[in-house]
Amino acid sequence: MQVMAIDKEAYKKILLELGENTTLVAVSKTKPVEDILELYHLGQRDFGENYTQELVEKQARLPADIRWHFIGHLQSNKVKQILPFIYLVQGVDSLRLLQEINKQAAKINKTAAVLLQVHIAREETKFGLDEKELEDIFSENQLATLQHVSIAGLMGLASFTDNADLLKKEFGHLKSLFDQYARHPRSRSPFRFLSMGMSSDYTVALANGSNMVRIGSRLFGKRDRH
Ligand SMILES: *Cc1c(COP(=O)(O)O)cnc(C)c1O
Repeated sequence: MQVMAIDKEAYKKILLELGENTTLVAVSKTKPVEDILELYHLGQRDFGENYTQELVEKQARLPADIRWHFIGHLQSNKVKQILPFIYLVQGVDSLRLLQEINKQAAKINKTAAVLLQVHIAREETKFGLDEKELEDIFSENQLATLQHVSIAGLMGLASFTDNADLLKKEFGHLKSLFDQYARHPRSRSPFRFLSMGMSSDYTVALANGSNMVRIGSRLFGKRDRH
């Protein structure tokens, strides 16, 4: 008998918890295409990857209707490899990267959907824009130069902790920024995704306004590397 590589029960449970208005991004980094297909056959279409090379290889071997999310730290020189097929570039953590995405998208006559990653965690090591940088991107002059990107929302990573109060504070902070920019006169529609929550903290994220969670190990099992 074949051993199921993915946790089907966990998948169903998570879908129920999320309800209809929250998107589940199944984080498949380091996992083989067979595992992805297994989840695909259960109806899952949104998948997240962190490494460009791995993503490019998997994308070529998997069904074309998968919506690929890039959730890692994207290097500017790798943008053009994934732009032709990527559904959503989450984790845009600098103006420079946003400008590069804009430039490459213009070349292939596309508008690239992105989420801006905001630094909300305590750890200095995590990537993300601070509030000032976020504000600068939304300035009139800046946005006018970014016609080939569509800023579809915000994304964030909370501190690595099981302190629910701290998680709540960090997610709550991101939610308030999301609400603020959703109302911003220069937010081009649709500004609609608030991507926060992973295997260990998604329930807290959901309770604090998340409408997109990125879940890996709970579906695919533990990973050997990050
Ligand atoms: C790996 C990763 C996830 C998923 O982590 P799990 O703990 O396995 O659910 C979510 N978001 C980002 C940005 C990641 O790098």
